Amino acid sequence: MVTRVQRELAGKRVLVLGLARSGRAAVDLLLRSGSKVVAVDRRSEAELDHFSGDWHEREVELVLGEHPRGLMNGIDLVVTSPGVPLTVPLLSEARERGISVIGELELAYSCSDAEWVAVTGTNGKTTTTALIGELVRNSGRPVAVGGNIGAAISGEIADLPSDALVVAEVSSFQLDTIETFRPHVGVLLNITRDHLDRYVSYQGYIDAKFRIFENQTSSDYAVLNVDDELLEAAADEIPGHVVPVSRFKEVDGGVFVRDGWIVSQIGGGEIEIMPVSELGLPGPHNLWNSLAALAVALLVDVDFVDASDVLRTFRSMEHRLEDVAHIDGVRYVNDSKATNVDSVKYALMSFDAPIIWIGGGKDKGSRFELLKEPAARNVRNAIFIGEAAANMAVALEGTVPVRFAESLRDALELARTMAGRGDVVLLSPACASFDMFEDFEDRGRRFKDEVARLKNSAAALDGKERTA
Ligand code: ADP
Repeated sequence: MVTRVQRELAGKRVLVLGLARSGRAAVDLLLRSGSKVVAVDRRSEAELDHFSGDWHEREVELVLGEHPRGLMNGIDLVVTSPGVPLTVPLLSEARERGISVIGELELAYSCSDAEWVAVTGTNGKTTTTALIGELVRNSGRPVAVGGNIGAAISGEIADLPSDALVVAEVSSFQLDTIETFRPHVGVLLNITRDHLDRYVSYQGYIDAKFRIFENQTSSDYAVLNVDDELLEAAADEIPGHVVPVSRFKEVDGGVFVRDGWIVSQIGGGEIEIMPVSELGLPGPHNLWNSLAALAVALLVDVDFVDASDVLRTFRSMEHRLEDVAHIDGVRYVNDSKATNVDSVKYALMSFDAPIIWIGGGKDKGSRFELLKEPAARNVRNAIFIGEAAANMAVALEGTVPVRFAESLRDALELARTMAGRGDVVLLSPACASFDMFEDFEDRGRRFKDEVARLKNSAAALDGKERTA
C-alpha cells in the first residue's frame, strides 16, 4: 500500500546523506516511492563495501568524496543516516535553506501503514527488540524487526501485510531526526551515561531518548522501566498511557515481580505469568528486558501462555552474555557488546560463580569506579587490555587483583591459568573496541576463536594423557 507521504515523495528530489546500511535502504525505499535520489557519502566507491551496483541503472545520482558546490540546489528533502553528526556543514546548509532534514527512521515510518512498536534505552535494546519480535512471531502475527538490529528498517517495511507489526530498535541518533514518528507502543528501558562523545551534554542524550514518546497520544502506550529513577520521575510528562515495569515494586497496571513470580496487571485484573527462575535470559538486567518485552506482547494481544513459552526458551544473543564453551570445568562467556559501564555492572552480577574478568579497550571517558562494588563482590581476578587498561586499574585499585595483557589471546591464556573448576571467564569490556578490533563483533568473534583454540589444545592434552 502507498501512504500519503509516499505519494508526496513521488517526483521529489531527495538527497540521502550517508550510504552505509540505513542510507542504502533509504535510497531503495525512495526509489520505490518514485523519488529522484541524490546519494551522497564522503567515502569513495572502493571504500563503500558491498556497494549496490544497480543504482547506476536506476538513475541514482551518486556523489562520493568531496561535496561539489551547489549540491543542495533543487533538493526538496534530506534523509540523513544515524552515523552522520547533525552538525556537518551540509545539514546546516539544508536547514538554513529551509529544507526539511529527517532520518531514515522517520522516512520508514512515514512510508508504512503498519502498527509500530519501538524500543530504546542505553542498554538492552537489541535483546528486547529481538524478544518482542519472537513473542509476536510465535503468536502467528506477521512481524518485521529492524532498525539498529539486523536490517535497516526502511528495507523491512515494504510489502507488509496490513495486520503486520513493525518492531524497531531505535537509537538516540535516530530519534534526533524524527518529526512525526509515533509508535503505538514505545519502550524506554534505561538511561545511563553513554555516547557523550556525540552529545554536548548528558541532558541532550536524555532528551533524545524521550523523543520516542513525543508524538504519542493517550491511545498509545509507553512501557517504562520505573526502577530507573530518571524514567520514573519523567512518567507524568509522557503523553502516552504509561505502562510501568519493575523488578522491585508492585506497579499498578504494569508488569512486576511478586514472590519470585512475574505478575501482569495489564488490561485490568491480574495474571501470574511465570516464575522468574524459568526465564531463558540470564541476569538481573535481562529480567527488566523480559518484563518490558512481555508488557509489549500483552499490549498487542499476545496470549500470556504463548508468551511465557517464548520467555522460557529465548536465549542470549551473540556477544551478549553468550555462553561459548566449558573447558576443564571453566565456563567461557562472550559479552563483547558490553561497551559501557552499566552493561558490565550487570554482567558482573549475572553469575553465581567467581569471575575472571577480561575488560578494557578504547576508553569513552567512562566512570570505571562504578564497577568497584560489583567487582569486589563477584570478581576474583581482573585482566585488562587496550588503551583503557591503566585507567581501569586505577579506578579499581584496592578492589580486585589486576593484571595487564597485550592481546586478547594473552588475556585468555592468563585467565586460563587463574581459573579453577566452576569459575567463569568473562569478556565484558566496558569500552569500545576500535583500539584493537574492527568493532564489538570482531572482538567477540576473536574471543570465541581463541576459546576454541584453548578447547582444542585442552582436548589434545587430554588425548595425550589418555594414550600416555
Ligand atoms: P543495546 O542494543 O542497547 O546495545 P544489547 O541487548 O545489545 O543492547 O545489550 C548490550 C549489552 O548490555 C550487553 O552486554 C548486555 O548483556 C547488556 N544489557 C542488556 N540489557 C541490559 C539492561 N537492561 N541494562 C544493562 N545492561 C544490559
